[in-house]
Amino acid sequence: MKTDSARYNQSINKSMSKLKVGIAGVGGRMGRALVEAVLSDAQAELVCASVSPNSSLLGADVGEIAGFGRLNVKTVADLSDALAGTDVLIDFTSPESTLQHLALCAKSATAIVVGTTGFTNVQQDEFNRQAQQLPCVFAANFSTGVNIALELVAKAAKVLGDAADIEIVEAHHRHKKDSPSGTALALGQAAADSLHRDLKQVAVYGREGMTGERERETIGFATVRGGDVVGDHSVQFLCEGERLEIVHKASSRLAFAKGAVRAAHWLKDTKTEAGIYSMSDVLSL
Ligand code: NAD
Repeated sequence: MKTDSARYNQSINKSMSKLKVGIAGVGGRMGRALVEAVLSDAQAELVCASVSPNSSLLGADVGEIAGFGRLNVKTVADLSDALAGTDVLIDFTSPESTLQHLALCAKSATAIVVGTTGFTNVQQDEFNRQAQQLPCVFAANFSTGVNIALELVAKAAKVLGDAADIEIVEAHHRHKKDSPSGTALALGQAAADSLHRDLKQVAVYGREGMTGERERETIGFATVRGGDVVGDHSVQFLCEGERLEIVHKASSRLAFAKGAVRAAHWLKDTKTEAGIYSMSDVLSL
């Protein structure tokens, strides 16, 4: 999946300098957390940031938007010019916008970290096609804890095999647009891969009415939406006589933001080849 790209070799020479970060969607919940994560990192600096073209925050100072005082970086709607001086763009926006940002980054030879979720199958195919043209880290969840949970789920599924019924329950704040969460799907995928099952064939999204007995191979997903829940995930392995539960609870968006900044450092310091990398690569899991 990875191809050589000499255009990115310059980043090796820059590895001793500060990481120059751009943030797309800086007016959003994750955008603001990303500003905090960059500002708290002595080895990183924020060089550009965007908001959606119709945002009331267009032209505002990014530091003031995020509540950290003036930074002298003003928001723009179009990142084309600003990306020339940017090492890595971090994008937590929407599927449509992320596809546009990928094209901009490919054009300006800028690496990208993508946290956006909720791609349709068609959008995901387009994402995979475009993201292979540049160094890209994509993760449905950038927290270290969830990435460890993914490893644990894969291991548990492999050891328990057909002895366990697998059910995944997730909860998020009332504003979340996609369901089930990208993280829940990634946890389901990890279990399905270990069991050599096709998630598309075995996933069951919610149950209602006379659904009949549970089929052994299915992997069930249940979703809770409400309040200000940052992100809870529970993967349950339900066996005869015992139950194993792998649970992760995020209490602050900073956990995702710090992971994304870590991925941006990793891209700048070690990755000159185009390709789609995961947090598992970043964390050497
Ligand atoms: P949000 O709605 O608060 O923020 C998204 C922001 O992107 C909005 O401010 C919107 O105006 C802006 N935006 C949209 N199009 C834009 C464009 N073309 N240019 C600039 N800005 C644009 O949502 P959020 O809670 O911050 O989540 C954003 C995405 O990140 C969602 O897909 C969410 O599921 C995902 N997410 C991923 C992780 C992870 O670890 N991977 C963690 C949390 C959220």
